[in-house]
Amino acid sequence: MELSRRSFLKLTGAGAGTALLVSLSKGTPAFAAKSYPLKKVAQEKTTICCYCSLGCGAIVRIYEDGSLQVHGDPDHPINEGTLCPKGLALAQISQVDGEPNVPYRLSKPLYRAPGATQWEEKSWDWMLTEIAKRAKKTRDESFETVVGGKTVNRTEAIAHMGGGELDNEECYALAKFNRAFGVVYLEHCARL
Ligand code: SF4
Repeated sequence: MELSRRSFLKLTGAGAGTALLVSLSKGTPAFAAKSYPLKKVAQEKTTICCYCSLGCGAIVRIYEDGSLQVHGDPDHPINEGTLCPKGLALAQISQVDGEPNVPYRLSKPLYRAPGATQWEEKSWDWMLTEIAKRAKKTRDESFETVVGGKTVNRTEAIAHMGGGELDNEECYALAKFNRAFGVVYLEHCARL
């Protein structure tokens, strides 16, 4: 039998309708509603989403079983209860009792030496000292004072990328620091 698209839709629609009628006639709803037990909220706090400058309001709830959820705050004048996908994912960067809320989130600095294939766990002290040492070395080796007869006092070997998690004060401090350091390539993820 040759089946056109229209007759295929008719046939499958009739099949589904018949199944539903049979099911209803037996008193068994075809699509049974599922019920979920309500979890008790142990703590509830309001916060501001850290991902972009809109500053949407969110409610963070920690339940008695230790799980955490983030919802849009309906009383917040900016977002009135809505959150975009980034804001809805705030739970992934949250901590419960000092522990990351999701197991795959990194909580310790990892270092992979040039040419190595494995990551090593390092302390924050070691990591910050190493970053400062290497940034200073790169800057000193690449610093230009005069180019084409003009004073530039810059390094073109370092670039700085800001992220949506930075607040105004952090952006201000970072911009000042980078300019004092001679960095001219300053960018932000929201502009790329
Ligand atoms: S990232 Fe989304 S939820 Fe967060 S402040 Fe910006 S728009 Fe609002």
